[in-house]
Amino acid sequence: MSKTDIRKLSKEEIIDQTSEYGFEKFRARQIHDWLWKKSAKTFEEMLNLSIKHRDILNTHFEINPVTIAESQRSVDGTFKYAFKLFDQKITEGVLIPTDTRNTACVSSQIGCSLACTFCATGKLKMLRNIDSAEIYDQVALIDAEAKTHYGKGLTNIVFMGMGEPLLNYKNLLRAIDKITSPEGLNMASKRITVSTAGIAKMIRKLGDDQVKFNLAVSLHAAMDSKRDKIMAINESNNLEVLMDSLKYFYEKTGNKITFEYILFKGFNDTKEDVRALANLCAQVPTKVNIIEYNAIDDAIFSKSSRQSTEEFQAFLKYKGVDSQVRKSRGDDIDAACGQLANKNGAVLKDDI
Ligand code: SF4
Repeated sequence: MSKTDIRKLSKEEIIDQTSEYGFEKFRARQIHDWLWKKSAKTFEEMLNLSIKHRDILNTHFEINPVTIAESQRSVDGTFKYAFKLFDQKITEGVLIPTDTRNTACVSSQIGCSLACTFCATGKLKMLRNIDSAEIYDQVALIDAEAKTHYGKGLTNIVFMGMGEPLLNYKNLLRAIDKITSPEGLNMASKRITVSTAGIAKMIRKLGDDQVKFNLAVSLHAAMDSKRDKIMAINESNNLEVLMDSLKYFYEKTGNKITFEYILFKGFNDTKEDVRALANLCAQVPTKVNIIEYNAIDDAIFSKSSRQSTEEFQAFLKYKGVDSQVRKSRGDDIDAACGQLANKNGAVLKDDI
Protein backbone atom coordinates (compact mmCIF):
# COMPACT_ATOMS: atom_id res chain seq x y z
CA MET A 1 0.00 0.00 0.00
CA SER A 2 1.47 3.35 -0.95
CA LYS A 3 1.60 5.97 1.77
CA THR A 4 0.36 9.55 1.47
CA ASP A 5 2.93 12.33 1.83
CA ILE A 6 1.18 14.07 4.70
CA ARG A 7 2.80 17.43 3.99
CA LYS A 8 1.07 17.56 0.64
CA LEU A 9 -2.25 17.78 2.52
CA SER A 10 -3.89 20.98 3.78
CA LYS A 11 -4.97 21.17 7.41
CA GLU A 12 -8.56 20.39 6.38
CA GLU A 13 -7.40 17.36 4.37
CA ILE A 14 -5.40 16.09 7.38
CA ILE A 15 -8.52 16.45 9.54
CA ASP A 16 -10.62 14.56 6.96
CA GLN A 17 -8.16 11.77 6.26
CA THR A 18 -7.15 11.10 9.88
CA SER A 19 -10.81 11.10 10.99
CA GLU A 20 -11.15 7.90 8.92
CA TYR A 21 -8.80 6.28 11.46
CA GLY A 22 -10.67 7.67 14.47
CA PHE A 23 -8.55 10.78 15.12
CA GLU A 24 -10.38 13.68 16.73
CA LYS A 25 -10.09 17.12 15.11
CA PHE A 26 -7.75 18.46 17.76
CA ARG A 27 -5.35 15.56 17.11
CA ALA A 28 -5.19 16.52 13.43
CA ARG A 29 -4.44 20.10 14.45
CA GLN A 30 -1.63 18.85 16.70
CA ILE A 31 -0.19 16.89 13.77
CA HIS A 32 -0.35 19.99 11.54
CA ASP A 33 1.43 21.96 14.24
CA TRP A 34 4.20 19.36 14.52
CA LEU A 35 4.66 19.23 10.75
CA TRP A 36 4.93 22.96 10.11
CA LYS A 37 5.57 24.97 13.25
CA LYS A 38 7.95 22.44 14.80
CA SER A 39 9.28 20.97 11.53
CA ALA A 40 8.94 17.37 12.81
CA LYS A 41 10.78 14.90 10.60
CA THR A 42 9.13 11.74 11.99
CA PHE A 43 5.83 10.80 13.63
CA GLU A 44 7.84 9.54 16.64
CA GLU A 45 8.65 13.16 17.51
CA MET A 46 4.94 13.92 18.00
CA LEU A 47 5.06 13.24 21.69
CA ASN A 48 1.58 14.46 22.56
CA LEU A 49 0.13 11.69 20.38
CA SER A 50 -0.27 8.18 21.78
CA ILE A 51 1.91 5.35 20.46
CA LYS A 52 -1.22 3.89 18.85
CA HIS A 53 -1.88 7.14 16.97
CA ARG A 54 1.74 7.34 15.83
CA ASP A 55 1.59 3.72 14.61
CA ILE A 56 -1.52 4.48 12.56
CA LEU A 57 0.20 7.52 11.05
CA ASN A 58 3.27 5.46 10.19
CA THR A 59 1.10 2.86 8.48
CA HIS A 60 -0.79 5.27 6.23
CA PHE A 61 1.33 8.39 5.87
CA GLU A 62 4.92 9.45 5.36
CA ILE A 63 6.98 12.59 5.89
CA ASN A 64 9.66 13.30 3.29
CA PRO A 65 11.97 15.78 4.97
CA VAL A 66 14.80 17.58 3.21
CA THR A 67 18.19 17.05 4.84
CA ILE A 68 21.52 18.83 4.59
CA ALA A 69 23.84 16.52 2.65
CA GLU A 70 26.82 18.84 2.75
CA SER A 71 27.69 22.36 3.83
CA GLN A 72 30.60 24.67 3.02
CA ARG A 73 31.61 27.86 4.75
CA SER A 74 33.12 30.78 2.84
CA VAL A 75 35.86 32.96 4.29
CA ASP A 76 33.26 35.76 4.41
CA GLY A 77 30.89 33.69 6.61
CA THR A 78 28.50 32.72 3.81
CA PHE A 79 27.34 29.08 3.96
CA LYS A 80 26.34 26.99 0.98
CA TYR A 81 24.19 23.89 1.53
CA ALA A 82 23.57 20.88 -0.65
CA PHE A 83 20.07 19.68 0.25
CA LYS A 84 19.08 16.07 -0.32
CA LEU A 85 15.44 15.51 -1.31
CA PHE A 86 13.41 12.32 -0.75
CA ASP A 87 14.27 10.95 -4.23
CA GLN A 88 18.00 11.53 -3.59
CA LYS A 89 18.06 14.57 -5.87
CA ILE A 90 20.19 17.45 -4.71
CA THR A 91 19.49 21.15 -4.70
CA GLU A 92 21.33 24.08 -3.17
CA GLY A 93 20.71 27.02 -0.85
CA VAL A 94 22.83 29.74 0.71
CA LEU A 95 22.92 31.58 4.04
CA ILE A 96 24.29 35.11 3.67
CA PRO A 97 24.99 36.87 6.96
CA THR A 98 25.67 40.59 7.35
CA ASP A 99 25.80 42.77 10.48
CA THR A 100 22.08 43.47 10.26
CA ARG A 101 20.60 40.60 8.25
CA ASN A 102 20.61 36.86 7.82
CA THR A 103 19.39 36.14 4.31
CA ALA A 104 18.51 32.73 2.89
CA CYS A 105 18.76 32.19 -0.86
CA VAL A 106 16.68 29.14 -1.79
CA SER A 107 15.96 27.08 -4.90
CA SER A 108 12.66 26.42 -6.62
CA GLN A 109 13.67 23.85 -9.24
CA ILE A 110 16.36 21.22 -9.69
CA GLY A 111 18.24 22.59 -12.67
CA CYS A 112 16.61 25.19 -14.91
CA SER A 113 15.07 25.14 -18.36
CA LEU A 114 15.88 28.76 -19.22
CA ALA A 115 19.61 28.35 -19.90
CA CYS A 116 20.80 31.94 -19.40
CA THR A 117 24.32 32.00 -20.79
CA PHE A 118 26.02 33.51 -17.71
CA CYS A 119 24.46 31.15 -15.15
CA ALA A 120 25.89 27.86 -13.87
CA THR A 121 22.42 26.48 -13.05
CA GLY A 122 21.33 27.15 -16.62
CA LYS A 123 23.93 24.61 -17.76
CA LEU A 124 22.17 21.83 -15.82
CA LYS A 125 19.33 19.78 -17.19
CA MET A 126 15.98 20.70 -15.65
CA LEU A 127 15.08 17.64 -13.55
CA ARG A 128 11.95 18.62 -11.67
CA ASN A 129 10.09 21.24 -9.70
CA ILE A 130 10.77 21.41 -5.98
CA ASP A 131 7.53 20.89 -4.11
CA SER A 132 6.17 23.33 -1.55
CA ALA A 133 7.21 21.33 1.54
CA GLU A 134 10.73 20.97 0.11
CA ILE A 135 10.96 24.73 -0.45
CA TYR A 136 9.69 25.27 3.08
CA ASP A 137 12.27 22.84 4.48
CA GLN A 138 15.15 24.71 2.83
CA VAL A 139 14.04 27.89 4.60
CA ALA A 140 13.46 26.14 7.95
CA LEU A 141 16.86 24.41 7.78
CA ILE A 142 18.74 27.62 6.88
CA ASP A 143 16.82 29.44 9.64
CA ALA A 144 18.06 26.85 12.16
CA GLU A 145 21.60 27.13 10.79
CA ALA A 146 21.47 30.94 11.11
CA LYS A 147 20.48 30.56 14.77
CA THR A 148 23.30 28.07 15.36
CA HIS A 149 26.06 30.06 13.65
CA TYR A 150 24.95 33.67 14.07
CA GLY A 151 22.66 33.62 17.11
CA LYS A 152 19.54 34.78 15.30
CA GLY A 153 17.17 33.42 12.68
CA LEU A 154 16.52 34.60 9.16
CA THR A 155 15.53 38.18 8.50
CA ASN A 156 15.16 37.84 4.71
CA ILE A 157 14.48 35.18 2.11
CA VAL A 158 15.25 35.45 -1.59
CA PHE A 159 14.16 33.01 -4.27
CA MET A 160 17.30 33.42 -6.34
CA GLY A 161 18.77 29.93 -6.10
CA MET A 162 18.42 27.23 -8.73
CA GLY A 163 15.49 27.46 -11.13
CA GLU A 164 12.83 29.90 -12.29
CA PRO A 165 10.34 30.30 -9.41
CA LEU A 166 7.46 31.48 -11.60
CA LEU A 167 7.63 28.23 -13.60
CA ASN A 168 6.86 26.45 -10.33
CA TYR A 169 4.12 28.89 -9.40
CA LYS A 170 1.76 26.73 -7.33
CA ASN A 171 4.46 25.26 -5.13
CA LEU A 172 6.11 28.66 -4.73
CA LEU A 173 2.94 30.34 -3.49
CA ARG A 174 2.01 27.43 -1.24
CA ALA A 175 5.48 27.47 0.33
CA ILE A 176 5.40 31.24 0.88
CA ASP A 177 1.95 30.90 2.38
CA LYS A 178 3.32 28.45 4.97
CA ILE A 179 6.53 30.44 5.53
CA THR A 180 4.50 33.58 6.35
CA SER A 181 1.74 31.82 8.28
CA PRO A 182 1.64 31.95 12.11
CA GLU A 183 1.07 28.18 11.76
CA GLY A 184 4.43 27.94 9.97
CA LEU A 185 7.52 30.12 10.29
CA ASN A 186 5.57 33.38 10.73
CA MET A 187 7.94 35.46 8.60
CA ALA A 188 6.85 38.78 7.10
CA SER A 189 5.97 38.80 3.38
CA LYS A 190 7.85 42.07 2.98
CA ARG A 191 11.05 40.20 3.88
CA ILE A 192 10.63 37.81 0.96
CA THR A 193 11.79 38.51 -2.61
CA VAL A 194 10.98 36.33 -5.60
CA SER A 195 13.32 36.78 -8.52
CA THR A 196 12.21 35.96 -12.07
CA ALA A 197 13.96 35.94 -15.42
CA GLY A 198 10.83 37.67 -16.72
CA ILE A 199 7.87 35.35 -17.40
CA ALA A 200 5.36 38.08 -18.28
CA LYS A 201 2.23 35.94 -18.06
CA MET A 202 3.10 34.80 -14.54
CA ILE A 203 4.08 38.31 -13.43
CA ARG A 204 0.54 39.35 -14.37
CA LYS A 205 -0.77 36.39 -12.38
CA LEU A 206 1.21 37.59 -9.34
CA GLY A 207 -0.59 40.91 -9.78
CA ASP A 208 -3.98 39.21 -10.03
CA ASP A 209 -3.17 37.20 -6.90
CA GLN A 210 -2.18 40.48 -5.19
CA VAL A 211 0.89 38.98 -3.60
CA LYS A 212 2.53 40.89 -0.76
CA PHE A 213 6.12 39.77 -1.27
CA ASN A 214 8.68 41.67 -3.35
CA LEU A 215 9.39 41.00 -6.99
CA ALA A 216 12.83 41.20 -8.56
CA VAL A 217 13.56 40.80 -12.26
CA SER A 218 16.87 39.44 -13.53
CA LEU A 219 17.19 42.05 -16.24
CA HIS A 220 20.93 42.13 -17.05
CA ALA A 221 20.40 44.03 -20.31
CA ALA A 222 18.03 46.87 -21.16
CA MET A 223 18.02 46.41 -24.94
CA ASP A 224 16.38 43.46 -26.70
CA SER A 225 19.36 43.02 -29.04
CA LYS A 226 21.62 42.32 -26.04
CA ARG A 227 19.14 40.58 -23.75
CA ASP A 228 18.34 38.08 -26.54
CA LYS A 229 22.00 37.08 -26.51
CA ILE A 230 22.18 36.19 -22.81
CA MET A 231 18.62 35.25 -21.82
CA ALA A 232 16.67 33.04 -24.21
CA ILE A 233 13.45 33.94 -22.37
CA ASN A 234 13.68 37.40 -23.95
CA GLU A 235 12.79 35.96 -27.36
CA SER A 236 9.26 35.08 -26.20
CA ASN A 237 9.02 37.76 -23.47
CA ASN A 238 10.75 40.80 -24.92
CA LEU A 239 11.30 44.01 -22.98
CA GLU A 240 8.07 45.63 -24.14
CA VAL A 241 6.02 42.61 -23.04
CA LEU A 242 7.99 42.40 -19.79
CA MET A 243 7.54 46.10 -18.98
CA ASP A 244 3.78 45.90 -19.65
CA SER A 245 3.52 43.01 -17.19
CA LEU A 246 5.55 44.94 -14.57
CA LYS A 247 3.29 47.98 -14.93
CA TYR A 248 0.31 45.68 -14.45
CA PHE A 249 1.95 44.08 -11.38
CA TYR A 250 2.62 47.51 -9.88
CA GLU A 251 -0.94 48.72 -10.52
CA LYS A 252 -2.34 45.64 -8.78
CA THR A 253 0.04 45.40 -5.82
CA GLY A 254 1.65 48.83 -5.36
CA ASN A 255 4.97 46.97 -4.91
CA LYS A 256 8.07 48.64 -6.31
CA ILE A 257 10.12 46.33 -8.56
CA THR A 258 13.82 45.56 -8.25
CA PHE A 259 15.91 45.10 -11.37
CA GLU A 260 18.88 42.81 -10.90
CA TYR A 261 21.65 43.84 -13.26
CA ILE A 262 24.93 41.92 -13.45
CA LEU A 263 27.62 44.05 -15.03
CA PHE A 264 29.54 42.31 -17.80
CA LYS A 265 32.62 44.13 -18.99
CA GLY A 266 32.13 45.72 -22.40
CA PHE A 267 28.79 43.98 -22.97
CA ASN A 268 26.17 45.76 -20.88
CA ASP A 269 28.12 48.39 -18.94
CA THR A 270 28.37 51.13 -21.59
CA LYS A 271 26.76 54.60 -21.66
CA GLU A 272 24.19 53.33 -24.15
CA ASP A 273 23.27 50.47 -21.79
CA VAL A 274 22.83 52.59 -18.70
CA ARG A 275 20.76 55.11 -20.67
CA ALA A 276 18.46 52.29 -21.85
CA LEU A 277 18.22 51.01 -18.27
CA ALA A 278 17.31 54.45 -16.92
CA ASN A 279 14.58 54.67 -19.59
CA LEU A 280 13.07 51.38 -18.41
CA CYS A 281 13.25 52.56 -14.79
CA ALA A 282 11.31 55.69 -15.72
CA GLN A 283 8.34 53.56 -16.80
CA VAL A 284 7.48 51.96 -13.46
CA PRO A 285 8.69 52.47 -9.86
CA THR A 286 11.90 50.49 -9.60
CA LYS A 287 15.25 50.28 -7.94
CA VAL A 288 18.35 48.62 -9.35
CA ASN A 289 20.72 46.16 -7.75
CA ILE A 290 23.99 46.34 -9.65
CA ILE A 291 25.66 42.97 -9.16
CA GLU A 292 29.31 42.13 -9.53
CA TYR A 293 29.78 39.28 -11.98
CA ASN A 294 31.16 35.97 -10.67
CA ALA A 295 32.80 34.08 -13.47
CA ILE A 296 31.66 30.47 -13.91
CA ASP A 297 33.53 27.70 -15.71
CA ASP A 298 33.60 28.35 -19.50
CA ALA A 299 32.82 32.00 -18.82
CA ILE A 300 32.31 34.14 -21.89
CA PHE A 301 32.13 37.34 -19.87
CA SER A 302 34.35 39.06 -17.37
CA LYS A 303 33.71 41.41 -14.49
CA SER A 304 33.34 45.15 -15.13
CA SER A 305 36.06 47.41 -13.80
CA ARG A 306 35.54 49.39 -10.66
CA GLN A 307 35.52 52.62 -12.65
CA SER A 308 32.83 51.39 -15.08
CA THR A 309 30.73 50.21 -12.14
CA GLU A 310 31.00 53.59 -10.42
CA GLU A 311 30.18 55.49 -13.61
CA PHE A 312 27.22 53.22 -14.26
CA GLN A 313 25.82 53.86 -10.81
CA ALA A 314 26.54 57.60 -11.00
CA PHE A 315 24.51 57.89 -14.20
CA LEU A 316 21.55 56.11 -12.62
CA LYS A 317 21.76 58.50 -9.70
CA TYR A 318 21.86 61.47 -12.09
CA LYS A 319 18.66 60.12 -13.67
CA GLY A 320 17.03 59.81 -10.24
CA VAL A 321 17.14 55.99 -10.17
CA ASP A 322 17.76 54.33 -6.81
CA SER A 323 20.55 51.77 -7.00
CA GLN A 324 23.07 49.91 -4.93
CA VAL A 325 26.08 47.83 -5.81
CA ARG A 326 25.86 44.31 -4.43
CA LYS A 327 29.24 43.00 -3.44
CA SER A 328 29.92 39.42 -4.28
CA ARG A 329 29.52 36.97 -1.38
CA GLY A 330 30.63 33.37 -1.08
CA ASP A 331 32.35 33.22 -4.47
CA ASP A 332 35.21 31.11 -3.07
CA ILE A 333 32.69 28.29 -2.49
CA ASP A 334 30.66 28.92 -5.68
CA ALA A 335 27.76 30.22 -3.62
CA ALA A 336 27.55 33.61 -5.27
CA CYS A 337 24.85 34.76 -7.61
CA GLY A 338 24.60 32.52 -10.71
CA GLN A 339 27.10 29.98 -9.38
CA LEU A 340 24.80 27.34 -7.90
CA ALA A 341 25.39 24.20 -9.89
CA ASN A 342 25.79 21.22 -7.59
CA LYS A 343 29.54 21.24 -8.03
CA ASN A 344 30.55 19.58 -4.80
CA GLY A 345 30.21 15.95 -5.64
CA ALA A 346 26.92 15.75 -3.79
CA VAL A 347 25.04 15.87 -7.04
CA LEU A 348 23.81 12.76 -8.81
CA LYS A 349 25.98 13.29 -11.84
CA ASP A 350 24.17 10.68 -13.95
CA ASP A 351 21.06 12.79 -13.78
CA ILE A 352 22.62 15.91 -15.22
S1 SF4 B 1 19.63 32.92 -14.17
FE1 SF4 B 1 17.83 31.98 -13.22
S2 SF4 B 1 16.45 31.65 -14.96
FE2 SF4 B 1 18.48 31.98 -15.86
S3 SF4 B 1 19.33 29.88 -16.07
FE3 SF4 B 1 20.01 30.69 -14.07
S4 SF4 B 1 18.50 29.89 -12.61
FE4 SF4 B 1 17.58 29.73 -14.68
